[in-house]
Amino acid sequence: MTDTKNSAPAKDDNSKNWRPATQMIHAGINRSQFGETSEALYLTQGFVYPSAEVAEARFMGEEEGFIYSRYANPTVDMFEKRMCALEGAEDARATASGMAAVSSALLCQVKAGDHVVAARALFGSCRWVVETLMPQYGVETTLIDGTDLANWQEAVRPNTKVFFLESPTNPTLEVIDIAGVAEIANAIGATVVVDNVFATPLFQKPLELGAHVVVYSATKHIDGQGRCLGGVVLSSKEWIDEKLHNFFRHTGPSLSPFNAWTLLKGLETLPVRVKQQTENAAKVADYLAGHKAIARVIYPGRADHPQADVVAKQMSGGSTLVAFDISGGRQASFAFLNKLRIVAISNNLGDAKSLITHPATTTHKNLAEEARAELGISDEMLRLSVGLEDVDDLIEDLDRALA
Ligand SMILES: *Cc1c(COP(=O)(O)O)cnc(C)c1O
Repeated sequence: MTDTKNSAPAKDDNSKNWRPATQMIHAGINRSQFGETSEALYLTQGFVYPSAEVAEARFMGEEEGFIYSRYANPTVDMFEKRMCALEGAEDARATASGMAAVSSALLCQVKAGDHVVAARALFGSCRWVVETLMPQYGVETTLIDGTDLANWQEAVRPNTKVFFLESPTNPTLEVIDIAGVAEIANAIGATVVVDNVFATPLFQKPLELGAHVVVYSATKHIDGQGRCLGGVVLSSKEWIDEKLHNFFRHTGPSLSPFNAWTLLKGLETLPVRVKQQTENAAKVADYLAGHKAIARVIYPGRADHPQADVVAKQMSGGSTLVAFDISGGRQASFAFLNKLRIVAISNNLGDAKSLITHPATTTHKNLAEEARAELGISDEMLRLSVGLEDVDDLIEDLDRALA
């Protein structure tokens, strides 16, 4: 018996052929008998059955329908279907946070004795899962500089099962050649998992580039307004059925219906927000690059980005984030942060509000000093998430604080 997700039957819509802005408003909607305009919020734990026979059939997987919201829920299902349309994925599972998505996607497919290769430039908690948690369960892991394809090839062992990377990376905005990594993985039958948060689903399509699994923290651009946590894992129907389905049901990283509803509303405006934030970020990056107090600017989209050729090959837009070094070390960085009036000091990103953080003392403070140095996270480095404010106000705020 095939163990189905027990969600509503897939609607025979045309959403895969729509352009993203249309998908983000209409894909996946499943209206109730009341014909509500906006997506309904099904704040329920369970579901009732018209008969004992129907209950039995659902549990047997012989009849489609909802069973329990840890498995699937109509509002969460709409969010998953909308994400599938945007990503061009066959199936998805929405999770309570980005880290629930990352840890589920990695842990569901490995066992003791397997080997995982990951790019070392990872979001702090992702790095902890790979470097600290997985070895506790007997999974060997190797961290490499992912920007050099030769390093992926060299790290391969007979038991290598998974490649994991983030591109652009947090916080140094390194870019990794996803198609190149996928080619190496396919030659050995390994699965490539890409954390696509920094690129957003609009500017980079890992599945089209050859990756097998894509994960998001929906907390970032998908909500985009600082309200709730969420995440999603997307892949082929086969991978979800065989690897994630049972892990997900029985470990319970499920997204709450209320947060799914909030994220559906976020998706409606995702294209306009990301486009405007990226335009703002490109202008801010150019402004910073021209300022004498700024020692270095890293922005995917500028010609001086270290992997500008890979950016051109695999990304259709820049980034809403800018990384830069202020001459004068940590003291100068802190003084600058404390003078900002519009840009707020916060480790979050992708928000309508511009947010800035000093990675060495916040998001990446748990890394050993050598590991930070390897990643180029200096004491003078700042990571700015550019918001939706008027870009001239943002530049004036930065300019005043730099003076
Ligand atoms: C924020 C983030 C995560 C974790 O997401 P949460 O929703 O905070 O759990 C994972 N990867 C990247 C790249 C992120 O930026």
